[in-house]
Amino acid sequence: MTVLSDWTRKFLDLLARRGPDSQVSADRPSRGDTVRIHPTAEVSDQAQIGEHTAIWHYAQVREGVRMGRECVVGKNVYVDFDVVIGDRVKIQNNALIYHGATIENGVFIGPAACLTNDRRPRAVTPDGRLKSGDDWEVGPILVQEGAAIGARAVILPDVTVGRWAMVAAGAVVTHDVPAYGLVVGVPAVLQGYVCPCGERLQPVGGEEGNSATMSCPVCALTCVVDGPALRQATHDDHSASEEGDHAD
Ligand SMILES: [Zn+2]
Repeated sequence: MTVLSDWTRKFLDLLARRGPDSQVSADRPSRGDTVRIHPTAEVSDQAQIGEHTAIWHYAQVREGVRMGRECVVGKNVYVDFDVVIGDRVKIQNNALIYHGATIENGVFIGPAACLTNDRRPRAVTPDGRLKSGDDWEVGPILVQEGAAIGARAVILPDVTVGRWAMVAAGAVVTHDVPAYGLVVGVPAVLQGYVCPCGERLQPVGGEEGNSATMSCPVCALTCVVDGPALRQATHDDHSASEEGDHAD
């Protein structure tokens, strides 16, 4: 007689209850043949995974996650419930992405990076009761298109990392990062701007008030810095180079 472990019995019970016509099966998001999930990974039936996405060893993807196509999720990554992840996002080994995070297309999240969600973390209330989900507020994080989070960086709650920004390895980000901004250190401070290719942008010409022009030494992309913000140069910018006009 075969002795089933508790876990195996529960699993078989679950299968028995979920017949092919059951409501649970019908509600399960469809997953194309192109999705690759390593047998050791734990991906919720209630997570939506886009085509050509690969999820590697021991990663955990919780219920309610919406992940786009062509993503790569490395070993031991944790993606908390209801996290939203766009297309072509790379999440390196051991990264932790907690509830409340939204990751747009083309974002890079380095090894062991941590996206937090609780600005005032406590295990218990002042009277010693274990805190539940109702006892604290989620501080959402938004990482916009193309941005990169360096290895072991920490993003605190209520922070937006702008388009194509770059967070240096080990940085602790306490405030919003402007588009194309490069932030370094603990706490992270703005040190310059980076091109979508990853190269640091260099100033060209002079400054006018708060406005300065910068360009990429590799791809000749020209950008205009306006205060802390930076945008790609347009036809309206007299400083845009003749052939290097890369309007959005
Ligand atoms: Zn460039």
